[in-house]
Amino acid sequence: VNAESASYLRPSELQSALAALAVAPRLVLAGGTDLYASGTPVPAKLRQRVLDITAIDQLRAIRAEPGEIIVGATATWTQLNRADLPPWFSGLKQAARQIGALQIQNVATIAGNLCNASPAADGIPPLLALSALIELSCVGGSRTVPLDEFVLGARRVACANDELVTAVRIPRRSPRARSVFYKLGARSYLVISIVSLAVTLDFDTQGCICYARIAAGSCAARGQRLLTLEGRLLGLGRAAARALPIVDESVFEVAPIDDIRATAAYRREVLLTLIERALREVCSG
Ligand SMILES: Cc1cc2nc3c(=O)[nH]c(=O)nc-3n(C[C@H](O)[C@H](O)[C@H](O)COP(=O)(O)OP(=O)(O)OC[C@H]3O[C@@H](n4cnc5c(N)ncnc54)[C@H](O)[C@@H]3O)c2cc1C
Repeated sequence: VNAESASYLRPSELQSALAALAVAPRLVLAGGTDLYASGTPVPAKLRQRVLDITAIDQLRAIRAEPGEIIVGATATWTQLNRADLPPWFSGLKQAARQIGALQIQNVATIAGNLCNASPAADGIPPLLALSALIELSCVGGSRTVPLDEFVLGARRVACANDELVTAVRIPRRSPRARSVFYKLGARSYLVISIVSLAVTLDFDTQGCICYARIAAGSCAARGQRLLTLEGRLLGLGRAAARALPIVDESVFEVAPIDDIRATAAYRREVLLTLIERALREVCSG
């Protein structure tokens, strides 16, 4: 296949995909659930050059390494939900089960959710709470970027034209770590989040919090961590963390927005409630 001229490429090897991107920019197609549905106009030049990455088996695998869990870019939400993963993946799995409905989860991919970078993307808060690293590859090699540096804003990511996201790398936590994800929408299922929240806490052998990540979604242009609250949790035991008064300052850091789905005041109220609920659940032992 002439990588320069073919309008639709569906290679089975990663190197062929990267070689095609090195020749000219292409519209990367994974599950297509954002691309086909978004209505965002795609420049004609890109529309004429599609790179479908769904036949590249090596991009689909989820595997455990000694220091990290590596989720391939085209792993679907169904695949992730069914994978045998440690308990601190439960927040990400809860998000996987709430992305669209089963038909969407069967084809929609983890990297598609991140690269589309919707402010309401449900994959972003749980992955921020797991300190996920994004692996980007081009013909010249690979680099990794923390997720909070990868997502630059609404629909803007740090991925060059000749790069593909090839994996999401999640550093291992101790077996004591736990996570949760909550999503509030206008109804309970098949809905865009008004507010979402993900919490991951890890505990040392004495039962004190040694790692705290709290991330909110749908409140601003991109998912955001609540750094002040994370700092206040470090060193606390489970009972103290459960009883921690969640003051507004932790939530103002996110500065929730007013939009068509909810007011800023409503979002603040919901965030406070979700944080309290999440801390109770993660610290319940
Ligand atoms: C009915 C419906 C309901 C939905 N509900 C939800 C929901 O509840 N929560 C939610 O968060 N989302 C929801 N979505 C959005 C969507 O399903 C997810 O964001 C999904 O994970 C996108 O993955 P995809 O593989 O389909 O991406 P695609 O549509 O294939 O791609 C999305 C974007 O990412 C780029 N891209 C994809 N893969 C790569 C890669 N490896 N490297 C570089 N760029 C890449 C594409 O070029 C495109 O710009 C819904 C969509 C629909 C249609």
